[in-house]
Amino acid sequence: MGKGKRGFNAPSKKDIRKVAHTYANLNKDKVGKMLSIAMDGQIRVGAHSSSPSARATPLDPYPKYLIELQHELPWNGLTPALGRAHNTCAEAHIWCELKARGKNPRNYTVLSFNTDGVVASPCANCAQWVEGAFGYVYKETPRYEGRPRQKPV
Ligand SMILES: [Zn+2]
Repeated sequence: MGKGKRGFNAPSKKDIRKVAHTYANLNKDKVGKMLSIAMDGQIRVGAHSSSPSARATPLDPYPKYLIELQHELPWNGLTPALGRAHNTCAEAHIWCELKARGKNPRNYTVLSFNTDGVVASPCANCAQWVEGAFGYVYKETPRYEGRPRQKPV
């Protein structure tokens, strides 16, 4: 565990990669999606990218979270850098899930990766808000290269 900014305890690179590979293996069916996990010690919350459904269901409460949290979404007022809404990203799903569970996203390390378990930097949309919204954003590359081009380093 290394001490990051604000005394935040960031997980090691080894731990991060292990978590990414384990979660990617459990989500091999999410072809074409990006995956993310937020970690705080042994507490881990994962999500994959997808446009919000029109209606919330017990298995997919995200549309409800977007309404309940509409005044505090960290990407409010930002203009997307990419041709998709901020709320399609896995990081956005996770932020809402943590808030809905009464957790503070600033206590969490967030990491993003593809279904091969290759760690990717957040996309240009997420880059606008994730650094201030989570405790630590794990990156191995300066910028997101696009899912198919994101290669191990
Ligand atoms: Zn993103």
